[in-house]
Amino acid sequence: MPCTKCGKKEYCSGFCKSHFMEYFEKKVRYTIRRFSLIGKKDKVAVAVSGGKDSTVLLYLLHKFGYGVEGITVTAFGGKHSDKNVENLRAVCEKHGIPLTEYLVKEELGHSVPEIKKMLAAKGVDQQMCALCGVLRRQMINRHAKAFDVVATGHTMDDEAQAFLMNVFRNDTKQVYRGGPRSSGKGFVPRIKPLYLIKESETAAYSRAMGFPVQYSRCPYSIDAYRRNFRGFLDEFEKKHPNAKNNIVNFYLSEFWGKKAGTAPKVCKACGEPSSGETCKACQIIGRIK
Ligand SMILES: [Zn+2]
Ligand SMILES: [Zn+2]
Repeated sequence: MPCTKCGKKEYCSGFCKSHFMEYFEKKVRYTIRRFSLIGKKDKVAVAVSGGKDSTVLLYLLHKFGYGVEGITVTAFGGKHSDKNVENLRAVCEKHGIPLTEYLVKEELGHSVPEIKKMLAAKGVDQQMCALCGVLRRQMINRHAKAFDVVATGHTMDDEAQAFLMNVFRNDTKQVYRGGPRSSGKGFVPRIKPLYLIKESETAAYSRAMGFPVQYSRCPYSIDAYRRNFRGFLDEFEKKHPNAKNNIVNFYLSEFWGKKAGTAPKVCKACGEPSSGETCKACQIIGRIK
């Protein structure tokens, strides 16, 4: 199918390369405007991993003229992780974006794989991905206190998967915590400017920009439940091209602006958003002490 705008060879999403880049940037700007994600004077922390989604987000917000800084939390060493940090430094240096690096090991005394082992010794079985996600999220929140918003690289794929997972688990609490912006008393609002962008599109944008990113997933990314949903949705969308878009729009029209976008509680130990009295990160930290 040729580009819908100029008839040149298609690069991605029905556009040639240059019209795709234009479409992509317009869509991110539209998302920021539509959901009032960022104010002109806001200090924006971008939670970056060195993967394609967060790298594209960091670059774009900087390009749009927002006051942006990258925050990255390293959960463990190893080839994949070291390479991510190296790539991030290169992108930030090239575009003059400040980057701050934090290490789980430095702050908690142990790396995430070590913590997983310590928990296992106490009979608590935790998936590496869940553990990593919980601890990194809390560290980012903690270090983002001086900012007005924290932006994350969640895409339409992530959001459609998360919504379906909540439906399949009948998790009505979690479902209200989704959406392109969540805010609550005592924590820095979290925003998702790539909410209406597909992962295939961030990959195409990143490739066109020549960003040094690893397109393979983290080798520890073995959360089987999530992987099942990703595989199922990708397969489904091949036959029904608008599926992800429809799921996200269903969410926006039925949940967003009603109860969605609020975190109901704050952890009594660390003050970060939490589903219960104590957040998951503090529960884990309590167990390894
Ligand atoms: Zn074109
Ligand atoms: Zn806590």
